[in-house]
Amino acid sequence: MSIIVENITKTYGNQKALDEVSFSIKSGEIVGFLGPNGAGKSTMMKIITTYINPTEGVATINGHHVATESMLVKQSVGYLPEHNPLYLDMYVREYIQFNALVHKVSKERINEVIEQVGLTPEAHKKISQLSKGYRQRVGLAVALLHNPEVLILDEPTTGLDPNQLVEIRGLIKEIGKTKTVLFSTHIMQEVEAVCDRVIIINKGKIVTDKKLNELKSNKDQIVEVEFDLRVEEQLLNQLPKLTKAINISDNLWQLTFNTSKDMRPAIFDFAHDNGLKLLQSQLKNEDLETLFRSLTKS
Ligand code: ADP
Ligand code: MG
Repeated sequence: MSIIVENITKTYGNQKALDEVSFSIKSGEIVGFLGPNGAGKSTMMKIITTYINPTEGVATINGHHVATESMLVKQSVGYLPEHNPLYLDMYVREYIQFNALVHKVSKERINEVIEQVGLTPEAHKKISQLSKGYRQRVGLAVALLHNPEVLILDEPTTGLDPNQLVEIRGLIKEIGKTKTVLFSTHIMQEVEAVCDRVIIINKGKIVTDKKLNELKSNKDQIVEVEFDLRVEEQLLNQLPKLTKAINISDNLWQLTFNTSKDMRPAIFDFAHDNGLKLLQSQLKNEDLETLFRSLTKS
């Protein structure tokens, strides 16, 4: 395991930012850490990267304890903080060189990371001249300098325009081929685009930890149907696998089934058997975004 988090609690004053959080991430996984603002994502990431201590619980990176072996942890981890502080007056290469000194890495490595994050054409520019997307690449280059096994990226795409977003996501995916990556976001689509597993956090607690394909297949099936006549809810209970029936208006219903099998033929038969006509039946499957919202609403 690359990252193991066990029963981590963090309180600020009397506020619990993290409440007994546990998860583990295997070497080579790219995991999305998803949650609304204030959920506790940055707090968790600061603990994993040894910048703050947990109130309770333990975390290890490549077997090193964050609280007692911070030097070893820092060697294993590359961290792109949420508000990445950059020296705007410095030139790109100069800034990366400056950080390379801190990490005692070779000159060749500087060129390697500049190349890897696609900064070669911008390397002679001042950081202040770069777009937000390219500034994030500078942050990524610095996080990669000491060739860490684990990358922790705190909202790496927040504030980027749609083109930059696609580029940075692509870059994270590419980097993720050879590293363990945990990146936070408040956008479900981002997780779908980049990773195969998602950990959803809300109000300091993990509410979901699943592979994306599991999340997709576990969803309920929702069908919106309209009959030509009024139907009693009791009658609808004849429908197999029905878990919920909501009367939207007049003869319009939203039916939820606990199955992935298309239930529209069964609804058609139900209507026919009960002397009803089916005016419409439409699959309204919850997308992952809707699922995320339902998991994280207060
Ligand atoms: P996220 O990154 O998911 O938006 P944070 O980890 O930044 O969430 O914050 C989690 C909660 O902890 C929030 O309610 C936030 O206001 C609170 N918090 C974060 N940092 C501090 C701090 N230094 N002092 C007090 N409260 C904090
Ligand atoms: Mg944050």
